[in-house]
Amino acid sequence: MEAQVRQEMQALISKLNTWSQEYYVNDQPTVEDYVYDEAYAKLLKLEADYPDLKQADSPTNRVGGKVLDGFAKVDHEIPMLSLGDVFSKAELAEFTQKLAENVGQDLAYNCELKIDGLAISLTYEKGKFIKGSTRGNGLIGEDITENLKTIKAIPLTLKEPVSVEVRGECYMPKDSFVKLNQAREQEGLPVFANPRNAAAGSLRQLDSKITAQRNLSVFLYYVMEPEKFGITTQAQALKQMQAWGLKVDEHAHLATSQAEIDAYIDQYHDQRQELAYEIDGIVLKANDLTTQKIVGNTVKVPRWAIAYKFPPDEEETVVRDIEWTV
Ligand code: NAD
Repeated sequence: MEAQVRQEMQALISKLNTWSQEYYVNDQPTVEDYVYDEAYAKLLKLEADYPDLKQADSPTNRVGGKVLDGFAKVDHEIPMLSLGDVFSKAELAEFTQKLAENVGQDLAYNCELKIDGLAISLTYEKGKFIKGSTRGNGLIGEDITENLKTIKAIPLTLKEPVSVEVRGECYMPKDSFVKLNQAREQEGLPVFANPRNAAAGSLRQLDSKITAQRNLSVFLYYVMEPEKFGITTQAQALKQMQAWGLKVDEHAHLATSQAEIDAYIDQYHDQRQELAYEIDGIVLKANDLTTQKIVGNTVKVPRWAIAYKFPPDEEETVVRDIEWTV
């Protein structure tokens, strides 16, 4: 039995690591995200059931991908984490219940759209943009300052001369993605699988002139060391960033009940097609920053936040069913 489980784990790890390489390093995935997520969930379950058999090279041990050669490396003094994820409202309710039990009270959650792009970090010194990087493996990222400077949504000077690191998502708007792929098709170049991979491929160019032509944009969603600025909640952090002149997604909503959280999910599940950018779910963040500090993080994800992923589009599921029946 053990040998069989070990074999199954190894097969999943090998598949997931190949898909991660294609997704994070080559920016050319060969499977849909839900296929990756299903295999990942299967591996997590096996590892929970057989903790002694957990392998060192399991993707559940680490964040994201490799750091590409060709870029200078940036140490993230505060690690850039991923997010735990759930795929149903019931699992989400379980998460909020457990957290409430842990901290001894019901919590308010800042609900945000989960922008389907790639995480970036921006450093401002006395209000001037001086450094920008990718998440990389969470501890070490790639220095992409020159590329980020080409993105018009990133102010080179803030409205106040603050020294601050902020984090957020770089994405390619849907219409830019369609135009880019049309142009690539005409030139006989391979097309990008989705806006997320197009954004990643565009941002990790050694020639920033190429990045400049790709119409990327950003939304910021974290202020690092918020206490320095008297910020006590996530909702306040978003407002403060706006006041500094940073671009923030305006669809966030502070929810104080599970019903409100569920309504937020339903609203954006229905409206996602109308948005100018892709989202793949919603993110719940405990609004109170003291609570965030108390519950802390695992090596990979915060314990005070969670992503709810939308189910795959019907179109994708149909493709999968066909693939499985041939
Ligand atoms: P993730 O994308 O599931 O979630 C974490 C990320 O969400 C954060 O790092 C941040 O970049 C982003 N995010 C967007 N909006 C946010 C907001 N408002 N607040 C906070 N964060 C926000 O996790 P990940 O570790 O980047 O990637 C794992 C996912 O990548 C998998 O679930 C899978 O769907 C996909 N993946 C796909 C393949 C494939 O072959 N198709 C391979 C590897 C990974």
